[in-house]
Amino acid sequence: MNFEQFSFDQRIVARIKAVGYTTPTPIQQQAIPMVLKGRDVMGLAQTGTGKTAAFMLPILQRLTQGPLRRVRALIIAPTRELAEQIYQVSLELSKNTNVRSVSVYGGVSKVSQVSRLRSGVEIVIACPGRLLDLLNDGDIDLSRVEVLVLDEADRMCDMGFLPDIRRILKRLPARRQTLFFGATMPEDIRKLADNILKDPVTVQIGKIAPVKTVSHAFYPVPDSLKKNLLLAMLEQTPTGRVLIFTRTKYRARNLARDMEKRGYRAAALQGNMSQNQRQKAINGFRDGKYDILAATDVAARGIDVSEISHVINFDIPDTVDAYIHRIGRTGRAHRSGEAFTFAGPADEQMTRDIEKLLGTRIERRRLPDFDYGSFVPESQLKKNHSKPPRKTLSHHKRNYIRSNEGSNSPRRRSQRRK
Ligand code: AMP
Repeated sequence: MNFEQFSFDQRIVARIKAVGYTTPTPIQQQAIPMVLKGRDVMGLAQTGTGKTAAFMLPILQRLTQGPLRRVRALIIAPTRELAEQIYQVSLELSKNTNVRSVSVYGGVSKVSQVSRLRSGVEIVIACPGRLLDLLNDGDIDLSRVEVLVLDEADRMCDMGFLPDIRRILKRLPARRQTLFFGATMPEDIRKLADNILKDPVTVQIGKIAPVKTVSHAFYPVPDSLKKNLLLAMLEQTPTGRVLIFTRTKYRARNLARDMEKRGYRAAALQGNMSQNQRQKAINGFRDGKYDILAATDVAARGIDVSEISHVINFDIPDTVDAYIHRIGRTGRAHRSGEAFTFAGPADEQMTRDIEKLLGTRIERRRLPDFDYGSFVPESQLKKNHSKPPRKTLSHHKRNYIRSNEGSNSPRRRSQRRK
C-alpha cells in the first residue's frame, strides 16, 4: 500500500516524499479516498494516527484545481497549538503548489492575520473565537468555503465552543463537504454531527483507545509525595522527552521551576502564558532545548513531538477522554512510549474507568528504593492479585541506551551538570 493509489497531483506526491511518508497510515487509507470523492466523513481516530494528513492531502488535491485566492477550505481547531500544528502540516504539504494558508487564533495581533487574509488564501486554520471576531469585523469571507473540517471536535465540545461553532456554521455555504474528527464522540457532538453531516462515511481506527505502542502503569502515591516520587522517577528512569501533566496551571508552572532548579532542562506550558511563551516552550521541547515539559491539558493540545518517550500524569485526568488525549502525545508514528499515572487514594474510580476503557488491568508499580513512608496503596489493602512491582526498568534502560535517544538519561544529565 502506498500513496500512488490516490493519484494525487505530482506536486503533492513530491511533498509526501519530501516529508518522508512512504505508507499511508490506516486512517489515511480509509479516509483519503472518501474525502477525494467529496463525501462527508466522521473520523474517529485519536491523535498520533496521521489524521491531519488524512484530511489535508485530499483538500490540497481539491484546491490545486479551481479558483485561487479565496477561502475554499476552513479547518477549525480547539486550541492555538493545534491550529499552529495543522498550519505547519499545510505549509509542508503545499510547498510546491499555489495553495496558500493562514492560521488565525487569539492571543496574538490580528494585523498580520488580516493582511495575509487580504492577500488571498485558500486554506484558513482557525480557533473559533478569533474566527468569529474576524467574521464580525468583515475581515474574512467564508461564503465560498467548499470544505469544512472540525478537528478534535470532542475537545471543542469540552471547551464550551459549541455555541461558537454553531454561529460559524451559519456563515458557511450549506452546500459543502464537512469532515469531523475526534478521538471520542460524546453525545452532544454526535448530535451536532448528525445535524450537519450529510450521509457521512464513518471511518474508525481500531478501538477508541490509546495507541498500542504505549504501555501504561499506575503509581499509587499520596498527593504529598508526588513531587518527590516524580524526581526520584526521573533520576531512576532513562527517558527521552518527558511530558508531565498537571491538573492546574500553578502546578505546571511550579513543577517546571522546581525541576529547572534541580538542573533539568524543563519548561512549563500552561494557559497563563502568552501565546509567544507557549510557542517558545513547545518549540524548545520539540527542538531538544527542553527535555521536560510540565503542561495542563488545554495547553498541551496539538503538541506534535514524535520523540516523547514518557507521559507522566502527575495528576490523574478528570475524564477517560482526557487520558486518551494525554497519552496520545507519546507512542506517535510507530514509536513506543510509556504512560505513568500517579494515582492517589481518591483516584480509585478513575483508575478503574481507565482500565475499563483499555479493556485490561493496568500494572500498579512502586518505585524501587523510594521512601513511601507509611503509605500503603488502596489496592494492597484490598489484597488484589496484582503482579509484584518490577524492580527495575532495565528493558527500557537497555533500549534507550542502545538507541541513544535518552537525552534525559541520568547519565546524560550528570554529564550536562558537570
Ligand atoms: P497526527 O495524527 O496528524 O497528529 O500525526 C501524527 C504524526 O504522524 C505526525 O508527526 C505526522 O508527521 C506523522 N505521519 C502522518 N502520516 C504519516 C505517514 N503516512 N507515515 C509516517 N508518518 C506519518
